[in-house]
Amino acid sequence: MALSQVVGRLVGVREHEVDPGGGGAPRVPGRVEAVVVGGGIAGMSAAVVLAERGVAVTVLEAAPTLGGRLGAWPETLADGSRQMNEHGFHAFFRQYYNWRSILRRADPGLGFLKPVPGYPILSERWPTEEFGRLPPAPPANLLALLLRSPSLRLRDLRGMDRDAALPLLAYDPARTYAEFDDTTADELLTSLRLPDRARAMLFEVFSHSFFNHEAEMSAAEMIAQFHFYLLGNPEGLAFDCPDEDYATAIWDPLTRHVEKHGGRVFTGAAATALTRDGEGWRVATADGTSYPARHVVLAVDPPALAALVAASPDLADHAPALVERMPAFGRPGPPYAVARYWCDGDVAADRAVFSGVSRQPTLDSVTLYHRLENESRRWAQRTGGSVVELHAYACEEGVPAGELAERMRAELIALWPEAARLRVRELRARVEAQAPAFTPGGHARRPGVRTDADGLYLAGDGVRTEFPSALMERSAATGILAANHILRAEGGAAEPVRSIRPRGLLARRG
Ligand SMILES: Cc1cc2nc3c(=O)[nH]c(=O)nc-3n(C[C@H](O)[C@H](O)[C@H](O)COP(=O)(O)OP(=O)(O)OC[C@H]3O[C@@H](n4cnc5c(N)ncnc54)[C@H](O)[C@@H]3O)c2cc1C
Repeated sequence: MALSQVVGRLVGVREHEVDPGGGGAPRVPGRVEAVVVGGGIAGMSAAVVLAERGVAVTVLEAAPTLGGRLGAWPETLADGSRQMNEHGFHAFFRQYYNWRSILRRADPGLGFLKPVPGYPILSERWPTEEFGRLPPAPPANLLALLLRSPSLRLRDLRGMDRDAALPLLAYDPARTYAEFDDTTADELLTSLRLPDRARAMLFEVFSHSFFNHEAEMSAAEMIAQFHFYLLGNPEGLAFDCPDEDYATAIWDPLTRHVEKHGGRVFTGAAATALTRDGEGWRVATADGTSYPARHVVLAVDPPALAALVAASPDLADHAPALVERMPAFGRPGPPYAVARYWCDGDVAADRAVFSGVSRQPTLDSVTLYHRLENESRRWAQRTGGSVVELHAYACEEGVPAGELAERMRAELIALWPEAARLRVRELRARVEAQAPAFTPGGHARRPGVRTDADGLYLAGDGVRTEFPSALMERSAATGILAANHILRAEGGAAEPVRSIRPRGLLARRG
């Protein structure tokens, strides 16, 4: 354990128990059926826990492959080689306790997760700044950032509005939303009176990673995420990534695990409507089949959830509060773009595997897949090439994927001039809008895991939790919470749920 973590523990920055789990039988007594709609992280996390406790669980996933926004699927390149393509690079942070606990079902030692050295932020205007090597835990990480970061000098601190900065250190799951949910992240950042460089290099890169524009994102959500990733996180900003594609490392083993425990996982099975059926539910799918179950977990992305609820008239009677929240919840954040390039040639040997990018109009991150995943590495070794993935987390509406990919490539060349020499052999580019929006004022109406209908639960990264969580970790945590509600209703033992320090270091008690 690092010294900063020892100090952090003394002030309560450590793993916290949200739910100890247990309280029931290792397997539910009697036959219990559950349907999970959506085979991404949220749905599969729910399915894993339910199947292990003997619930007869069926996962219905609309796409031909599992994983949703962490999906992976095979593609054949023009040179005839088969390559897995993915929905995009993901950082597996170490405070993702619930997601990691699910992943241990795929590999108990998490051997497939390899540390990614460094977390640099690139800018055309300022020198690269490194975040991955800060001491892991607060308050030492914050002090080191203030002392080491060339973007924030002592005289800048004097010019800052320190009162405006205090809420960042005082995250509280109720008070932060009461005070800041109506403010935008942009307004909060402006009120700090940071030097432009510090704002760009330390804050904007971070808030972009939540798939929302600062001017349209709640300041309370930004404070919550600063707490979750930096100011309340005992594990640090360093992260890990699978060394195989997500299907091989995660989805195939988790599917086998669910099936081994008697569950069923169907892909290409889009749920089209939900109807009340006696004490339970019936989920209809596009091929005309219908699945009866006492419990249903809707673990789909926000627009898909709104569409499914709208196509299920029974919910107007049985879940009016859910129905009422859907129009706002179902509007996703701005589109995001992912472009994976297979190229001849490589960038400089000292370029990092993953880099965040600040203040480019489109480009937000660069990943060198041929230095990350084994299949890409083999392809690059064979061809002398490289596999480079570019992301934009919140881009302009209505721009085609190919054009966004080209804009991102041009912006990469401005940062790494040698990228101009890469000859593009193949490109797979996508633009999609499925990420939850965290608009100002939205928190009070954000749906939680429990709905107002008996036996109907939600899970996903847009679903509200009362403890710090975000992105993949929120999907896994809400999936487990949904499973726990079902298990408690049926006499089965619940799964433990964990998170980081629930409040900021300067949050008032009570
Ligand atoms: C480019 C990119 C990079 C990211 N990077 C990171 C990162 O570095 N770290 C991090 O923590 N998070 C990251 N994320 C976010 C992360 O991917 C999501 O938070 C997480 O995968 C969401 O999982 P989910 O299960 O909640 O939703 P989804 O993955 O959206 O899963 C929902 C599933 O439901 C299915 N579905 C929809 N409608 C139906 C229907 N009617 N019937 C049946 N199935 C249906 C969908 O096909 C999908 O598989 C990133 C996301 C993207 C797009």
